[in-house]
Amino acid sequence: MHIFEFHTGVHPQQHGNQYITDCPFCEKEKHFFYNAENFMWDCKVCMKSGNPVMFLRMLYEQFDNVTQTSKFISNLRDLPLSCVQECGLKYNPLNGTYLIPTFKHNRLQNIYKVVQTKKQDKTTHEWHDKWIIMASPTMEHTLMNWDETTEDTILIAEGHWDRLAARAIIGSQPITPIAVPGAGVWKDTWCELLSEKNIIFAYDNDNSGRAGYENVILKHIAKSQYKPKSISILRWPEQKDEGYDLNDCYREYGRAAYGRIKDWIQPYTSPENTVVVKTTVDTIPADKTCTTFEDLMSRYEQVYHTTTPMKMGLLLVLSSIYSVRIEGEQIWVRLIGAPSSGKTTIAKCVSGSDQVVVKSTFTGLFSGWKDDAGQDASLIPLIAGKTLIVKDADALLRQPNIEKIFSELRDFYDKDSSTFFKNMVAFDYKNIRSTMILCGTQVLRRSDQSFLGERYLDFELDISERDRECIEERMLQRSMMVAINPSTLPPEMPVVSAAKGFIEHLMQRPNNIQLGLREQTNIRTWARLAATLRTKVDREKFGQREITFEPVIEVPARLIGQLTKLYMCAPVVLGIDRPNELVHQLVAKVVRDIIDYNSPRMKICRVIMNEPHSRDEIVTATEQSMERVNRELQDLIALQLVNGYKQSSTGVGRHVLKFQLIDSLREGLEHIGFA
Ligand SMILES: [Zn+2]
Repeated sequence: MHIFEFHTGVHPQQHGNQYITDCPFCEKEKHFFYNAENFMWDCKVCMKSGNPVMFLRMLYEQFDNVTQTSKFISNLRDLPLSCVQECGLKYNPLNGTYLIPTFKHNRLQNIYKVVQTKKQDKTTHEWHDKWIIMASPTMEHTLMNWDETTEDTILIAEGHWDRLAARAIIGSQPITPIAVPGAGVWKDTWCELLSEKNIIFAYDNDNSGRAGYENVILKHIAKSQYKPKSISILRWPEQKDEGYDLNDCYREYGRAAYGRIKDWIQPYTSPENTVVVKTTVDTIPADKTCTTFEDLMSRYEQVYHTTTPMKMGLLLVLSSIYSVRIEGEQIWVRLIGAPSSGKTTIAKCVSGSDQVVVKSTFTGLFSGWKDDAGQDASLIPLIAGKTLIVKDADALLRQPNIEKIFSELRDFYDKDSSTFFKNMVAFDYKNIRSTMILCGTQVLRRSDQSFLGERYLDFELDISERDRECIEERMLQRSMMVAINPSTLPPEMPVVSAAKGFIEHLMQRPNNIQLGLREQTNIRTWARLAATLRTKVDREKFGQREITFEPVIEVPARLIGQLTKLYMCAPVVLGIDRPNELVHQLVAKVVRDIIDYNSPRMKICRVIMNEPHSRDEIVTATEQSMERVNRELQDLIALQLVNGYKQSSTGVGRHVLKFQLIDSLREGLEHIGFA
């Protein structure tokens, strides 16, 4: 039977591929044509035409009896009138059936037909009414209904009657009821509707009901890229009859039904190695079996191609996370690296921890975040006592209010601002400790000291071309694996879980690291070295002219505080009671990166470290302009870091001016590991 006869009751005449029947719209006989292959139809009299869905829409539109029909159905099913009415059931006088429409995004997609039949009881031989629901032939099954927006919780009922009952039971609870046409019906595309929602299966109390939801979960959701946030099952109590359903439940308990079923809704436990709900860094449980840094690293190495800078970078980030526990200077970090150098990986690794807040970027500390009411709110309460990781700090630099953001960051680091008032609420930010990690590329270097002050420690994730290839290869494999089998947990999740567990242990650890002579000497020497080399020399008019003031090398108090704290926190992360070689290497690398090996000034210092060179030689060796070299040399001389002296040249009576670093600076650079 074709869809037209199914809904009109009129038997068509066949002419080859063409069928002719009566028009349900203008009622003209034998002028309604349709094609038996594609079911395109048209009426030669009223000129209506279209495809099957359009036929169903026009058919449905043509009846105006929702109220009457709803009264009838609400009596038939013992359900409140309003619940039936909202579903828009209609009576079809053409064949004496009832129509259950289904909608997607408020557009009618399909119609199910309710027919009254008779059924004989096998023992009493009595006949009673039976109402059966039939699907329109050739139409694909549809959900009742697929709304554009749903509540966070979706209850899935088995069959259309239970969908009506579900609405009656749910009442005003924030739950969206939907129905599948039958326990055994599901389509892969429907998984999208469940994406990141809390799902409750409320199928019938029988084997087909139980097999039905198992099938949806294990055959469809497990294989879908769309995963719910959670899955629960309405497990009917044992004393309920076989086949007991939501409609029976409403008949039994009426408006008290929801109070009953909510106790029967239980979380679904999926078989091992089958992922049916979305696992995010927010929901991942902490793996408390990861108790040491070495353990964390070995899990990290299983998933990621790992380089020594990555290991040190993770150590630095964990030290920063831990450091909020201790008074004094904070360990704020700029994690600098090219794309695919591993900085995002480090950020991702710790992102599951409650101690960490990850933001892509932000527009300010005091107005960088909109709360639920859409109001500008301060980011500070969110990050109090925690570590803020900004994944794309380059984007931060492109914010139009960047100067204001950095001024806020400076104030927050220093915590001495008297303007910490915002949103009509005055918070006492002075006692809030947070640390901050900015991940970005060399672009971050451009946000030079005038913006950020010396509040960040720098760390560069320098990688070789070979390492980059390995990292990208692993990323590619991961993407393919996730694409081929969406039901497996993303491979990095165990690392996130392990880091989450490790950080929980870490934050419990006491800090009683004693710094020895070597550490103290390093801190003083290296802090002075970095401070010396990053001292700016004042010049009139945009740095082009003469030096205006005798340059003053900063007292590196802040840097001493930061390096001390790093020396004290990194051993705690490593679970040792005094700094080891790895910690010394980490601190030295941080100082090297603060000095910035590739800055114009350092390029020159590297050339004239061991042997004197002339200007021309420096220009050639550094590939910088003569103007640049002259300016930097002037600065270095003003800072008393370079000696210039005349050296006799080959020609008689000719001298060439040569430059060389002073001995103490050369020794300092060697000490920190500059070759
Ligand atoms: Zn017609």
